[in-house]
Amino acid sequence: MESQTFRALVAEESAPGQFTRHLRSRRTDELPEGALLVRVQFSSLNYKDALSAMGRPGVTKRYPHTPGIDAAGEVVSCADGAFNPGDQVIVTGYDLGMNTPGGFGQFIRVPSSWGVKLPKGLTAKQSMILGTAGLTAGLSLHRLLASGMTPRRGEMVVTGATGGVGSIAVELLSRAGFEVVAVTGKQSETGFLRHLGAKEVVGRTEILEGAQRPLMTERWGGAVDVVGGEILSAVIRSTRYGGVVTCCGLAGSAELPLNVYPFILRGITLAGIDSAQCPAKLREEVWQKLAGPWKPHEILESASSCTLESLEEKFPAILDGKLRGRTVVQLPG
Ligand code: NDP
Repeated sequence: MESQTFRALVAEESAPGQFTRHLRSRRTDELPEGALLVRVQFSSLNYKDALSAMGRPGVTKRYPHTPGIDAAGEVVSCADGAFNPGDQVIVTGYDLGMNTPGGFGQFIRVPSSWGVKLPKGLTAKQSMILGTAGLTAGLSLHRLLASGMTPRRGEMVVTGATGGVGSIAVELLSRAGFEVVAVTGKQSETGFLRHLGAKEVVGRTEILEGAQRPLMTERWGGAVDVVGGEILSAVIRSTRYGGVVTCCGLAGSAELPLNVYPFILRGITLAGIDSAQCPAKLREEVWQKLAGPWKPHEILESASSCTLESLEEKFPAILDGKLRGRTVVQLPG
């Protein structure tokens, strides 16, 4: 294919340590090598995208750079035949949007192994309302079920509940029959969380009551944590005997102040969740579930949408924990 010019949001280090973002013209022949060329129709906003766009350490090493860890669109060409031109694909994770130009541009070129065929039951837009957050929430539910967690074990707690991963986890767990308790810093969003299926909504400080003790009163059957830090520590220490706690994020802190008592006295399992390098088979299985039996209808209805231009105001907001639910990004054209 002849090189095409396209629009992309480009984050640049305009002065040492100072990052700015602009809409720029890019050419497809500037994209890295890779078998799969995709015309991106939708992307989404994730916490990691804001870290990359704002130049926060730990995500993107080289600027100028186009963030966007999620992309869905149409295959333009696929050199190794894994996809046909015109196929609808989802690309999330791996290095997309980290150091590989990502979904905030109209084209991406990536290894074909990064692509998942859009499952029947989801439109490209719906797949990006879910995006990496949906895959991560789905992987968390998958892990809980695979570890033997059933609704009979009692209440499941979800932290960071109004955020992307948290809000989807609330709906997925509730649809799977669990009694969900949502932990949030935004009590004003109680109605939203109840609408997603939360049985009870508790504040971040409430969850820390009694947290000075090494083991807290047993309450939760299990948990989905996106926050880390003191809150994850308290959740682990108040999970009932044999419970499973998934851990995928650090929205609060990357630290985990904890001792071994919950593991050696209560048999708690701490299960790490990674969506970026998740093996293709599991990735496809979870996408199929998200498109079918697990489809989170309320999340799909409640998402906001924005354009490349309006992303600018969203980056600091997501880093400050001020956004609610998911934001899908509509690419031009
Ligand atoms: P969001 O920003 O959408 O949600 C995070 C939520 O966490 C916020 O909405 C807020 O919810 C809560 N929160 C924010 N700051 C704090 C704080 N200081 N203390 C306690 N709670 C806080 O992010 P995502 O849902 O997209 O991602 C959540 C985390 O998961 C991030 O760390 C992200 O990097 C990680 N992640 C990991 C993945 C993996 O594969 N392992 C994949 C996707 C995300 P509330 O106000 O309701 O409490």
